[in-house]
Amino acid sequence: MVAARRHIHQHPELSGCEQETADYICQILDEFQIPYRKNVAGSGVVAELTGKMACSFPHVVALRADMDALPVQEHTGLPFQSENAGVMHACGHDVHVGCLMGALMILKELQYRFGGTVRAIFQPSEESYEGGAPQMIEAGVLNGVSAIYGLHVTPEIPCGSIGLHAGEFMASTDELHFVAIGKGGHAALVNETVNPLFMAADFICKVRKEVASRNVRDVETVLSFGRLVANGSTNVVPDEAVLSGTFRTFDEAWRDEVLHLLAETAKEIAAAYRGDFQVDIRNGYPVLKNNPETTREVEVWAKQLLGAGRVLSIPKRMTAEDFSYYLQKMRGTFIRLGSGNESRNTHFPLHSSLFMVDEDCMKTGAALLALCGIA
Ligand SMILES: [Zn+2]
Ligand SMILES: [Zn+2]
Repeated sequence: MVAARRHIHQHPELSGCEQETADYICQILDEFQIPYRKNVAGSGVVAELTGKMACSFPHVVALRADMDALPVQEHTGLPFQSENAGVMHACGHDVHVGCLMGALMILKELQYRFGGTVRAIFQPSEESYEGGAPQMIEAGVLNGVSAIYGLHVTPEIPCGSIGLHAGEFMASTDELHFVAIGKGGHAALVNETVNPLFMAADFICKVRKEVASRNVRDVETVLSFGRLVANGSTNVVPDEAVLSGTFRTFDEAWRDEVLHLLAETAKEIAAAYRGDFQVDIRNGYPVLKNNPETTREVEVWAKQLLGAGRVLSIPKRMTAEDFSYYLQKMRGTFIRLGSGNESRNTHFPLHSSLFMVDEDCMKTGAALLALCGIA
């Protein structure tokens, strides 16, 4: 399992290009004589292992691992550091593949001791904007499934422990792109120009105030703008100002309301200034909502497996995950797998060029996934 993870770490592939990774996964599945389908929604692989114990209600449980890497130049200096320049498994998806492989190896060994089927989903493109999950669902990976589980390494949680959060757990994310279009000219000729910077500034102030005042339920919300570009000068009003930002929250109704508000406010500002306001909102992943029932079950199983002190209740996260698409269709739980160990330099965050894990976390991840598959 560790060797497989290291091989994948050394040969990372970007979202949508995971063909070698997929081939390598198939090679291991062949070795263990586990049947699979490949080229599912691109480079996805779906393996199935059916227990040989008689079972009156044989159900199918899905376990998912993402397998893409990021456009990051690795600086860890690990002996199995990335051989692909500018590409790195900086989000630990190599570890997720390793854990799911490990779970299959455990279950293969125990094939006479469980009934039902475990479906292992090796999914491409988690890190790219539309996500690989919707296409995998489209390809039928959830057909006949009764629950789905997945995990993600987390350096803030110590290796050997896991983190759980029932209900809304990870944020929705939407990319915001606006262009305020005015009328450029000499800054002194106020009546002949429409200043797009004023339009953008007014827009930012207005939406911030409106969002704060309408958020009566106090839903955790991030409305942030990180880019405002207008190429004028001290005495030149430019024609347009480009504004970009992100919106994240934990409630789909509130998400709809705010996205609508942004579009409406843009129209109002355009009308008030007699300019124009282009709106391009790119919807990212939905809110990730862990099913309370399956999450309670995972908590019980994990406590038996790891001990109560190693099963932590953790807060919501503002980051997003395309596992949320599976959880819109299916009960299940997304688990945070502790990978931190100060003595192994694991304090660098996800997506950092120095990101590392304590590989011992894979024992926890594989065992817990195996348990989720058959419990
Ligand atoms: Zn990531
Ligand atoms: Zn990730």
